Amino acid sequence: MTNTAPTKKVDMDTMVSLCKRRGFIFQSSEIYGGLASCWDYGPLGVELKRNVREAWWQAMVHQRDDMIGLDAAILMHPQTWVASGHVQGFSDPLVECKSCHLRWRADDLKGSVCPSCGGELTEPRMFNLMFKTRMGPVEDEASVIYMRPETAQGIFVNFQNVLNTTRKKLPFGIAQTGKAFRNEITPGNFTFRSREFEQMECEYFVKPETADQWLKYWLEERFNWYLKLGMRKENLRLRQHGKDELAHYARDCYDVEYLFPMGWSELEGIANRGDFDLKQHSAASGKTLTYFDEEKGEHYLPCAIEPSAGVDRSALAFLLDSYAEEPDKDEVRVVLHLHPRLAPVKVAVLPLSRKEPLVAMAREVHAGLRCCFVTQYDDAQSIGRRYRRQDEIGTPFCVTVDFQSIEDKQVTVRDRDSMKQLRVPIAELQKVLSAKLCGEAFDTGPLWAAHGEQLA
Ligand code: ATP
Repeated sequence: MTNTAPTKKVDMDTMVSLCKRRGFIFQSSEIYGGLASCWDYGPLGVELKRNVREAWWQAMVHQRDDMIGLDAAILMHPQTWVASGHVQGFSDPLVECKSCHLRWRADDLKGSVCPSCGGELTEPRMFNLMFKTRMGPVEDEASVIYMRPETAQGIFVNFQNVLNTTRKKLPFGIAQTGKAFRNEITPGNFTFRSREFEQMECEYFVKPETADQWLKYWLEERFNWYLKLGMRKENLRLRQHGKDELAHYARDCYDVEYLFPMGWSELEGIANRGDFDLKQHSAASGKTLTYFDEEKGEHYLPCAIEPSAGVDRSALAFLLDSYAEEPDKDEVRVVLHLHPRLAPVKVAVLPLSRKEPLVAMAREVHAGLRCCFVTQYDDAQSIGRRYRRQDEIGTPFCVTVDFQSIEDKQVTVRDRDSMKQLRVPIAELQKVLSAKLCGEAFDTGPLWAAHGEQLA
């Protein structure tokens, strides 16, 4: 189900304001003036984020025989980050303006002066992006630990544990989602670059001679994941990293990029990490992290292909991509054409009036639906305004209970995208909505022929 609504590029300010107004995303600690580049997900945002994460988990773990999941701790032994190269090399070049003291990432700057005030800049110095904290009651150097800047290392250090307990054969992958932290020099563009964010990462372990082939496979898989969830193809592209751009661990790397309001930017990185990480951890820990290949009769270190995506960046891209302003009679409606799997609310139940026995009936319809779908019950203001409110948060279906419903035990189902309507017996409502939410076209089926056309 690809988004086919007319394209109108939405700017970031409009999205920030919609997210705040409707309860998707708030500034962190707003009542204290906010904490830079940290975001709180409100009642709708938390559902959207869960849906993104679960769609990823479904595609990467539950639908596959060659993938298993993991949930490693955020805090890891500090030696992990020495071995992985992050203590030494996870840094960006930082310059500071000598006049206004704003700090910038030198590799992001176009000119040689401060973009804010035009002042002179200092020489670049390398700035490590890892957050440091202390563990335990003694504040000495030995107690320093790091907030993980990526979830991947939790996978590498558990490689043997997973292998021993699952007896997987190559190729196989370990997937995990979770928080990561980076003290970014120039965060911004809403949630695109935050200091606390969530990743969805997989290390797919393969025989070394097949690494290039598997990299290609994962490029296609991951690109298609966004398309299957409705993202417009023209807003997505793959870009290979230049040799000078490759991270210290990568042999080859591509970005899935999305056309954000600020231009093409990374949505997901897909890298061939070779055997860098297992080799480093093996040397630093003194533990054997090889795989025994029974066919070849050899022990060796497999290569890791890493698709590494961001929950927050994906959620933002899905919001931007689904946004539309469309004519609705004499007015304009704002609608999020989110894929039903991603929509925070799947079905809204709207009684036409607050009078009995209509309310009792609407409550009963609602109770029947909420055990299967995420629902909302809304009886405030005119039905037109209530439809608008649901369109604006991307609810695929609204169910209206009217006075006729009391007579004929039927309700009206309205489709968000086409705004067409269909009369459905209450007894069949759950079944019909399940089918439509799973991708069945709205204006098909025997019910449509009987009751849809005259209502549409
Ligand atoms: P960038 O070049 O944008 O800084 P990166 O190449 O450092 O990103 P990776 O290390 O490849 O990013 O991280 C994998 C994914 O994690 C990214 O594609 C993105 O979706 C997400 N991610 C990384 N950093 C951030 C951040 N500061 N805020 C939100 N998401 C992030």
